Amino acid sequence: MYVEMMFDSLEGLSVGDALGQQFPVMRTSVDALRAGAAPGGQWRWTDDTEMACSVVAELCTRDAIDRDHLAAAFARRCDPGRDYGFSTVGNLSRIRKGAPWREVSAAAFDHQGSCGNGAAMRVAPLGACYASDPDMIVTQAIRSAQVTHMHPEGISGAVAVALAAGQAARARLDGIRPTPEQFITTVLDRLDDGETSRGIRRARTLLGASVHQVAGELGNGSRVTAQDTVPLTLWIAATHLHDYPTAITTCLVAGGDIDTTAAIAGGIVAAHTGPEAIPREWLVAREPLPAWLDRARPPKPGRLRRWLTGSPRRRQPARGISKPSPTQ
Ligand SMILES: [Mg+2]
Repeated sequence: MYVEMMFDSLEGLSVGDALGQQFPVMRTSVDALRAGAAPGGQWRWTDDTEMACSVVAELCTRDAIDRDHLAAAFARRCDPGRDYGFSTVGNLSRIRKGAPWREVSAAAFDHQGSCGNGAAMRVAPLGACYASDPDMIVTQAIRSAQVTHMHPEGISGAVAVALAAGQAARARLDGIRPTPEQFITTVLDRLDDGETSRGIRRARTLLGASVHQVAGELGNGSRVTAQDTVPLTLWIAATHLHDYPTAITTCLVAGGDIDTTAAIAGGIVAAHTGPEAIPREWLVAREPLPAWLDRARPPKPGRLRRWLTGSPRRRQPARGISKPSPTQ
């Protein structure tokens, strides 16, 4: 497990979420933001971050997703003031009162299960955590999605984002950045066929197009489904994998469900760049992550432990990309 890269991804996810939430009421421009400006007090994060923190805490505590525990954690920590969807608040409330998550999740949306973007929005850190093991990424992403999203598209969106984040982190370890086309192809290679994967395949044909054209063709999350959200975020992450500020501001330009598109793209890109690529002003403006997450976080390995565990020598990273510590 790559615990440090998992937390790097969470930083990128939460800053994207908080900035996306705050942006509509900011009196600023995308150009000013690109320059690192951070107007307007503290940026409050939303459900994307709250749920991602629960996923990360689960992986710190149990090394893998235990669906019963994750469902209970989502339900216990759900603060409706964090901009959760109406049905999610109701479903998590039922789980908190003792209803089995399997029944609640399967019964959603007239027994079709949810295909919302909620499983995709929280999963990037999981992909970074299992960077070297795509099979594990797929297995664990499915498990993390099922507790709230039983529809195949809701699950597929989560698997796609987790695979993208895992590949982003893997590329950081290897010091080799894939081309945008390679990046998207690697995700597609392990994705089941469906509406979400077809959208991602379409995204691959739009590399180099303007973000307005891409959002017009793929959707921008305004329908809050995985199909309408994930293809655009993968296009943005693939195009700007080395450039966190541009990835996030591109989400803002695309419009739609911008706290979630910025959370997804931010979680993927920061897994590759490390937190150093996030403008310091943005990190400072983001509301601190919850204290309970700090308590779940294992201590960082010291130099002596890294030496004793014999971390392999790796190629030098690309310029501006920080190298993570070895596995924990
Ligand atoms: Mg949100």
